[in-house]
Amino acid sequence: MDASDIDKDLTEILVTEEQILTRLREMAEEIERDYEGKDLLVVGVLKGAVMVMADLARSFSRHVEMDWMAVSSYGSGTKSSGVVRILKDLDTDISNRHVLIVEDIIDTGLTLTWLVSNLQSRKPASVEICTAFRKPDAAKMAVPVKYIGFDIPDEFVVGYGLDFAEKYRNLRCVATLAPHVYS
Ligand code: 5GP
Ligand code: MG
Ligand code: MG
Repeated sequence: MDASDIDKDLTEILVTEEQILTRLREMAEEIERDYEGKDLLVVGVLKGAVMVMADLARSFSRHVEMDWMAVSSYGSGTKSSGVVRILKDLDTDISNRHVLIVEDIIDTGLTLTWLVSNLQSRKPASVEICTAFRKPDAAKMAVPVKYIGFDIPDEFVVGYGLDFAEKYRNLRCVATLAPHVYS
């Protein structure tokens, strides 16, 4: 799907497909250097991180293992509450493993802060975070984010895995939604 197919629903393309893929290749190189000689388990957070995971993982010139988690964060409106429930747990025992969490976007960081402490309790060798997009509030996060694709403004965006009511995930770019879609 091209942005033009649904551009009546979008107001502005913030990050193009080309920009995303270029940045992910740079990040993959950095991650390869940092994990040289170590095994690496990348953990994607469903469903949003599916696109990031697919493109990041295929940018590696080394072997990585992939696993997935699905969590639900309860909150009113569009902000998460930090109260998190595991919908799908890892299939992998991560004790003594180097774990890299792959996220689509970090807004408040509450979901991810919870996830990191949950994974830490399983005694991995290390846990780091990689996110494609980060909003300004995430800078206040207690847990540092090691790999960041793009810092974006505090606006609700869709595309590249990010949804509004489960739509727009398959959009190749990241864009802001037109008000008529959600009002
Ligand atoms: P946090 O706990 O960091 O506030 O929330 C993170 C989750 O909220 C993300 O993984 C994503 O699912 C959702 N989210 C946060 N900001 C946006 C956004 O601008 N657009 C979309 N579609 N989802 C978002
Ligand atoms: Mg997510
Ligand atoms: Mg969503």
